[in-house]
Amino acid sequence: MALTVGDLTAWMDEWAKPSLALEGDPVGLQIGRPDKPVSRVLAALEVTPEVAEEAVEEKADLIVCHHAVLYRPAKRLREDEPEGRILAALIRAGIAVYNAHTNLDTVPGGVNDVLAERLGLQDVEVLAPTSEERMFKLAVFVPASHHRRVLDAVCEAGGGWIGNYSHCTFNIPGKGTFLPREGAQPFVGRVGALEEVEEIRLETVVPEDRLEAVIAAMLAAHPYEEVAYDVYPLKRPVRVQGIGRIGVLPEPVALEPFARRVREVLKAPGVRFCGDPERKVARVAVLGGSGMGWARDARIRGADVLVTGDVKHHDALDALASGLALVDAGHYATEKWVVPAVARYLSRRAAESGNPLEVLVSRRAGDPFRFIS
Ligand SMILES: [Zn+2]
Repeated sequence: MALTVGDLTAWMDEWAKPSLALEGDPVGLQIGRPDKPVSRVLAALEVTPEVAEEAVEEKADLIVCHHAVLYRPAKRLREDEPEGRILAALIRAGIAVYNAHTNLDTVPGGVNDVLAERLGLQDVEVLAPTSEERMFKLAVFVPASHHRRVLDAVCEAGGGWIGNYSHCTFNIPGKGTFLPREGAQPFVGRVGALEEVEEIRLETVVPEDRLEAVIAAMLAAHPYEEVAYDVYPLKRPVRVQGIGRIGVLPEPVALEPFARRVREVLKAPGVRFCGDPERKVARVAVLGGSGMGWARDARIRGADVLVTGDVKHHDALDALASGLALVDAGHYATEKWVVPAVARYLSRRAAESGNPLEVLVSRRAGDPFRFIS
């Protein structure tokens, strides 16, 4: 069965949950319809005229991007204007467009994790929390014969994740008893007789937003008519999600060589930096794109330097006065690294689903700025 736009957007929404987007930030399917079959998807940071052309030429069915193609409400769709031309070309070619913006900045493995990893940061934490997700513990009693089936169902529905590890469960064998009463249709045993069964207590953690789905999947996979299970709210851990990341360098380094290294690892056409070139930096905050709105968070969290893009003159002066150094590596160079990560994610999900999907990474996207050396 062919994949559809709806399948791919659902996968993206599972990773970069739309509820994590900042208020007023348009995310999700912007052009097209969910039931359209997809065999080829193009991943890009944004839909420029070049990327739209590439999508048409490559016969992509869907573009998955970071920046919205419709950011401001369009007032008209004229093909003699740049925006209308792009939109009309995409619609005419039947190409759908989906975007994940601040939700993709926030999620584990998204824009800012990729950036922190690229810069080699260690002990990485969220810079500015935007939400806390409560966790629950699910404990279910399952006969040994169906243990694996229930475990898989629970984990595939979103239970059992701790950090980057899936299928985290604990399993204790024991003896379950029950006495089927009149009207019961027991899977094992018979009405009126006390039954003893070898069962396994399977327990795992489930985030709040997956709880209903996990319980439904668990019940569907479980053989019993009446399933014994408990759900406990947990005080800890609470999964903190948020914008930006902060971490430490393996070794402190002077600001200027650090800025050079940033340019190198991000393959940025150029970087600017603010601060004493010889000051040592160890604690680094990162925020892909336009991050100066979070400079205060970086300073409060004890960052020596903030790596971001789009730094304005007066914001730079304020940061310097507060003792925070800056490396401006550009909006594009600090965000573009998420595109291959999105492509890898979609390829993996397609492979897991057993459906063919060709995932292309845009080759015509690029930094609008050029630098004179
Ligand atoms: Zn951006």
